[in-house]
Amino acid sequence: MSPSITLALSKGRIFDETLPLLRAAGIEVLEDPEKSRKLILPTSQADVRVVLVRATDVPTYVEHGGADLGVTGKDTLIEHGGQGLYQPLDLNIARCRVSVAVRADFDYASAVRQGSRLRVATKYTAIAREFFASKGVHVDLIKLYGSMELAPLTGLADAIVDLVSTGNTLKANNLIEVERIMDISSRLVVNQAALKLKQARLRPLIDAFARAVEPATA
Ligand code: AMP
Repeated sequence: MSPSITLALSKGRIFDETLPLLRAAGIEVLEDPEKSRKLILPTSQADVRVVLVRATDVPTYVEHGGADLGVTGKDTLIEHGGQGLYQPLDLNIARCRVSVAVRADFDYASAVRQGSRLRVATKYTAIAREFFASKGVHVDLIKLYGSMELAPLTGLADAIVDLVSTGNTLKANNLIEVERIMDISSRLVVNQAALKLKQARLRPLIDAFARAVEPATA
């Protein structure tokens, strides 16, 4: 009997945009996570199951073998560190960017030019630290876990570093995007031991994903 395969996904955009790739590999997820409270979802292939975890936990599950493979954003991977993970494919889904945003009335350019310490609130401390260090800007990082947009509005921070897709969330909160740090998409990550031990089952799956990935548009 072939070994079973566990795929870690997070609910929402990543789950939704991974479904067509799974379909292309001949795998249908048999339950809708929005309608069920189950955390383990069966698929049309008896030896493949999907586990639903928080987006930030996907690399941890795959690193420690709680899942053989997973789909996770580049942002999450950088924050995690990526150790112990084989990253064979950029799936080119859940695309967005990491940007710096400030209140519309905050003079970001002057603050950076004057070399004053910038208070930056973010969930993405590794990305923010590296970005401002590369610019030689001194920052005090304030770690948040959500609703970053509130930080400049309440005086908690001068700027935020957050994911931006359409820009509507920033606009609705009177914030403006002042720097684009990096483009983000989701990647396939694979447990390194599983890749060796379950090679015969995983390789065709990875190859099917690779064939189904849409090329990046500028
Ligand atoms: P938007 O209003 O379209 O710019 O979306 C911004 C909000 O959606 C922010 O709160 C982000 O944290 C979140 N967001 C945007 N794109 C993604 C993504 N690919 N993955 C996770 N969260 C995202």
